Amino acid sequence: MSSSSQSAVPTDSGAPAPPIQIPFNRPCFTGNELRYIQEAVARGQISGDGHFSKACHAYLEQALGVRKALLTTSCTHALEMSALLLNIQPDDEVIVPSFTFVSTINAFVLRGARPKFVDIRPDTLNLDERLLEAAITPRTRAIVVVHYGGVGCEMDAILEIAGRYQIPVVEDNAHGLFARYRGRYLGTFGCMATQSFHETKNFHCGEGGALLINDEQYIERAEIIREKGTNRSRFFRGQVDKYTWVDIGSSYLPSEVLAAFLYAQLEGRESIQAKRQRIWQRYQAELAGWAVEHGVTLPTIPPHCDQAYHVFYILMPSLASRQRLIAHLRGQGILSVFHYLPLHLSDMGRKYGGQAGDCPVTERVSDCLLRLPLYNDLTEADQGRVIAALCAFEGW
Ligand SMILES: *Cc1c(COP(=O)(O)O)cnc(C)c1O
Repeated sequence: MSSSSQSAVPTDSGAPAPPIQIPFNRPCFTGNELRYIQEAVARGQISGDGHFSKACHAYLEQALGVRKALLTTSCTHALEMSALLLNIQPDDEVIVPSFTFVSTINAFVLRGARPKFVDIRPDTLNLDERLLEAAITPRTRAIVVVHYGGVGCEMDAILEIAGRYQIPVVEDNAHGLFARYRGRYLGTFGCMATQSFHETKNFHCGEGGALLINDEQYIERAEIIREKGTNRSRFFRGQVDKYTWVDIGSSYLPSEVLAAFLYAQLEGRESIQAKRQRIWQRYQAELAGWAVEHGVTLPTIPPHCDQAYHVFYILMPSLASRQRLIAHLRGQGILSVFHYLPLHLSDMGRKYGGQAGDCPVTERVSDCLLRLPLYNDLTEADQGRVIAALCAFEGW
């Protein structure tokens, strides 16, 4: 979802597009980021796993109740760590929704896995748990779920099926930090979960991520894989007197500069989530009547899900009307974006046998979904302009 491809969209009048006045996303700051970076510099350790990394780990472990939290350089890298930890081998199958970001499955394909794409529920746009069991084969080695928009997947049903077949579940929780399913935090259901701190997410440090581990058996090896295949973490804790190469691994630690930035963001949890909730709920309240009138679908949030307020999307009646609406908004200086292109129909997905019609809900949603501007500092006035521009749209 690059902004450059979005800005190529012509306006509805065919006139040159005005400058973007309301972006789709804007990275926001709590105010302590630079102070904490300065403190990290003053402390004299800028490489990973120093004071602020430990503070972020402790914060996430305590806030969520996970056994272990490890910062990573991205959610993509946390997913790669999951694939390594689960010993994914060539020709293993990994079940994943087609409606997700490429990294959800690419991290496993990198180990030689074959993706098994499953369609999504038409209401929450999460992996349809009613299709899960039929997708399992003797080669299935992992189920990777995505909590789209930070609205929980049907974890009771998913864990019941996975448990019956003894297949590990990984949660790609890039959207869902601090959201809950039946009162329990997302990221605490799978044997492990991954978070993103990319600047488009609710909490960020530009580029960053975390691996959350719930199943204790993976903790020690996760530390090794993250430290270039060495037992350096144990060495630093004084558990061994020298460190050496003990396993495969890579370099997945972010620097303290990023951890310091991120800590300032995590500390701002309450205010960040309150701002996003207010913006999300206003879209919902003020667009409800308009949506009914024009056959537009607004997000469904099941009552047992406390969501993360990560995305506000609308489902337009057709691809053509969605494209006209993007152009209409762009003509008023407002950037709105679509995603995801179905993975099973991508060049790579087709190599694994993906065909049109395999995931009909994904294919329809991908054509019709539009994400509206949503960032912490979106002003009331600017949000009012977005809503007014939507209501003035006539290109049905
Ligand atoms: C953003 C995102 C990722 C990738 O996150 P990075 O931190 O940029 O690697 C993975 N999965 C989903 C669902 C995402 O939205």
